[in-house]
Amino acid sequence: INENTGRRRVLLKLSGEAFGGGQLGVNPDVVGQIAREIAEAVDRVEIAVVVGGGNFFRGAELSQRGMDRGRADYMGMLGTVMNALALQDFLEQAGAATRVQSAISMTQVAEPYIPRRAERHMEKGRVVIFGAGAGLPYFSTDTVAAQRALEIDAQEVLVAKNGVDGVYTADPKKDASATKIDRITYLDALQRGLKVVDSTAFSLCMDNRMDMRVFGMEPAGNVTRALLGESIGTLVTA
Ligand code: UDP
Repeated sequence: INENTGRRRVLLKLSGEAFGGGQLGVNPDVVGQIAREIAEAVDRVEIAVVVGGGNFFRGAELSQRGMDRGRADYMGMLGTVMNALALQDFLEQAGAATRVQSAISMTQVAEPYIPRRAERHMEKGRVVIFGAGAGLPYFSTDTVAAQRALEIDAQEVLVAKNGVDGVYTADPKKDASATKIDRITYLDALQRGLKVVDSTAFSLCMDNRMDMRVFGMEPAGNVTRALLGESIGTLVTA
């Protein structure tokens, strides 16, 4: 709980895939819905968001097709900035105050990433959107979500998924007998190879005792529920 405001503070991770509604680019209906759900909670909880970029480019995929990995990863990071701006726009349409901070400097478009300033924004009731990942190739936005949550002193990382509503005993898309787990430790998830969130993100949270909730964006209202602290999806703990 934030000492200055008495509010809970959370870090919400949104995948780029969700933004595209399964396609390349930004789907305004989907982003609009997510924005309205965030705006509904922002007077009760301090919210920072890390956005992915899989609806534009994934560095690993481009490098498999012959591109230099570092350059491909920078393309991936630039994609996350486009998603950050889209989310900012729809949040403002929904009545929420926002700031975008980018890990790659582009001062016309976004503030630079300054964690202390991000905290002040949240205390003032602004949603802070972190774009450009960590600014480092070979990282994923899941890992960045864990790192940002730690640095801004959030209570929890909330990982919103589309197509799956938590951590399962196996990949439910490949194994029909997979069942949902309500609660699991990072070590257990890592040892069992449950890859719903990447292993670097799990390790970082485990080592620093940061809780993570993995939940499905469907049905509508779930993002608000998770932000407000409802026990949906799977809780992953150290
Ligand atoms: N990326 C990166 N460093 C970071 C964050 C992201 O290089 O700190 C690149 C990486 O190429 C990744 C792409 O940005 O594939 C998009 O991010 P991600 O795949 O995590 O997005 P999501 O799967 O959440 O849509």
